[in-house]
Amino acid sequence: MAKWPYCTSKWQRLRSAKLGQSPVCVICEKRGHTEVATTVDHVKPISQGGDPFPAMDGLMALCERCHNEKTAGFDRTHGNASNRRFKGCDANGHPIDPADGWWG
Ligand SMILES: [Zn+2]
Repeated sequence: MAKWPYCTSKWQRLRSAKLGQSPVCVICEKRGHTEVATTVDHVKPISQGGDPFPAMDGLMALCERCHNEKTAGFDRTHGNASNRRFKGCDANGHPIDPADGWWG
């Protein structure tokens, strides 16, 4: 997490603001349990043209485990956004992964 934009004070402020607004992992919450969020992730990756400093809804707060799951899944598919980064559905039957398009 040492590379741009994560090393900037602008990102640090954005990250703190997001964790303040959303202190619980959004993916764990959809799976029905509560985990403290420790990382902030871009819904649309910077490598795919996402805004490095998006609005709050362009970010998602994740716990360490979900962040690792997302990173591992994403790396395996070489960043193909059509692949789900999070497996499963929430209580309403919606896919958990915001990349599926229903998010927001
Ligand atoms: Zn989680």
